[in-house]
Amino acid sequence: MNKAMATQQLKKFLSIYVLLLSGLLTLPLHAQESKELNLYSARHYQTDEALYSDFTKKTGIKINRIEADDNALAERLKSEGANSPADVILMVDAARLWRAQIDGFFKPIQSPYLEGRIPANLRSKSDSEGSSWFGFSTRARLVVYNKTKVNSLDVDTYEKLADPVNKGKVCTRSGAHPYMLSLIGAMIERRGEVATEEWAKGMVANMARPPRGGDTDQIKAVASGECGVALTNSYYLVRLLRSTKPEDQEIVSKIGFIWPNQKTTGAHINIAGGGVAKNAPHPQAAILFLNYLASDSAQEYFANGNNEWPIVKSVKIENEGLKMLGSFKAEAISVAAIGKNQIAAQRLLDRVGYK
Ligand code: FE
Repeated sequence: MNKAMATQQLKKFLSIYVLLLSGLLTLPLHAQESKELNLYSARHYQTDEALYSDFTKKTGIKINRIEADDNALAERLKSEGANSPADVILMVDAARLWRAQIDGFFKPIQSPYLEGRIPANLRSKSDSEGSSWFGFSTRARLVVYNKTKVNSLDVDTYEKLADPVNKGKVCTRSGAHPYMLSLIGAMIERRGEVATEEWAKGMVANMARPPRGGDTDQIKAVASGECGVALTNSYYLVRLLRSTKPEDQEIVSKIGFIWPNQKTTGAHINIAGGGVAKNAPHPQAAILFLNYLASDSAQEYFANGNNEWPIVKSVKIENEGLKMLGSFKAEAISVAAIGKNQIAAQRLLDRVGYK
């Protein structure tokens, strides 16, 4: 072995050592023996390349990636059953993570390191077996409004969107989408089912058009004036704020955004996250990878790449778009409770005809 190779080996050994330390004795040393990791991911961001190659550089573990949207991943995991080669599953939104947990896709793990890094309300409830999934980044659900059609004071809470003053102005994506089910699940947690159903009824009465399209489509429809006010996940807005394309800047010039419920319960927060797969063939490598995702350097890649906030509060944000959004008060509800409430949320939406 020449000197350069020896130095490289030493570096690799030290990184593994640091990751193991961060994993705190939960990992036997033969974790190094797993040379590969099968990752099922619903993420598809260019910047994730750096995230994965950095892990391989630090540990020598090669990542085999299966990327698909959340539904396709869930279907695949179901059909593979106990023979699934998945080691780690990454998904977005607590509604989907909770469903994946109920479907039995995760193996709960106990990790003092992850529990120390990730706030308790941003991971699944832990029992004697540990937690099934962990958030690794956060996103918020914001109000965007047309500056000429709507007075910001009429739309500064989620509740006000259902007020008759906003009749004919409200647009959202389908109520059945996890982003909406989670928002409504959070409202059920805060206000109960009866009040939330009243709210949903008011929303249906205020619609400018039947729900359709994604969050970016809502922002565009607000800019064009077809809608007066809409809801969007923060990273879609940040993507437009950071864009240098003239058509995007045109959209940004027509809209305002609001952090909802700042005087009361705070803005609705959700996560992107994941956990160890139920039948992971390489469980030690899987835990090593989750620990890595919560490390400072990975947090920067993971959150920044999709214009989200790191889950670890001490990690600095170097994202101009996020800085433009400023600081805000976040809802303190457990995302696990939000995920669980999605069934009640869907039922009440069906009752009021929220498509
Ligand atoms: Fe999204």
